[in-house]
Amino acid sequence: MAYSFTASSISIPFTKSSLLFPSSFHSSSSSSFSIKHHHALPLSLSVSASSTSTTAIETDKPQFSSKPLPFRVGHGFDLHRLEPGYPLIIGGINIPHDRGCEAHSDGDVLLHCVVDAILGALGLPDIGQIFPDSDPKWKGCDSSVFIHESVRLMHEAGYDIGNLDATLILQRPKLSPHKDTIKANLAALLGVDPSIVNIKAKTHEKVDSLGENRSIAAHTVVLLMKK
Ligand SMILES: [Zn+2]
Repeated sequence: MAYSFTASSISIPFTKSSLLFPSSFHSSSSSSFSIKHHHALPLSLSVSASSTSTTAIETDKPQFSSKPLPFRVGHGFDLHRLEPGYPLIIGGINIPHDRGCEAHSDGDVLLHCVVDAILGALGLPDIGQIFPDSDPKWKGCDSSVFIHESVRLMHEAGYDIGNLDATLILQRPKLSPHKDTIKANLAALLGVDPSIVNIKAKTHEKVDSLGENRSIAAHTVVLLMKK
């Protein structure tokens, strides 16, 4: 099937305008994210602001046709401050440590960047736009909710995960005793075989906030394959 479904057909629980163009987008002075960038994307979106607004954006008239892509790649990055008094949740696993992530949600740096990688591969906005913490529906959510929603969007767009490779960057604690558990849980959350999920971890050589146990970061690359 060609990429002809609309924003409403993918059943994202937001208004069309809030999905792609939250108020912060409209007010942004940056012009680097143009609607023209959506031509080759899998979604043919028709986004209209409310009748009281003067900003109506039609995106269902591509200037050149897009073919279904057999593969789509996405990258995600996330970083959180580490503060005493918070749990350290990585990939849905509570890792014993003297500090954790201060965040509205559970601060799961790995799940957040996996979500961003999947959304990125689909050509969708980032996790903060899709799941704004200003919306009480998402505030304080377990990050597994975001994973499940991004996986649902992926399936509705007609893709499966080919493979996923993630790198966690933190000085302490050592993650080697927990990597298999994190990997198994992430694979289960994604609904995939653990053999296509890879988790790596490295220190930051004791420099900068990452190396001084003041923050944790993660990168994820994901390959999606057309069903
Ligand atoms: Zn995050």
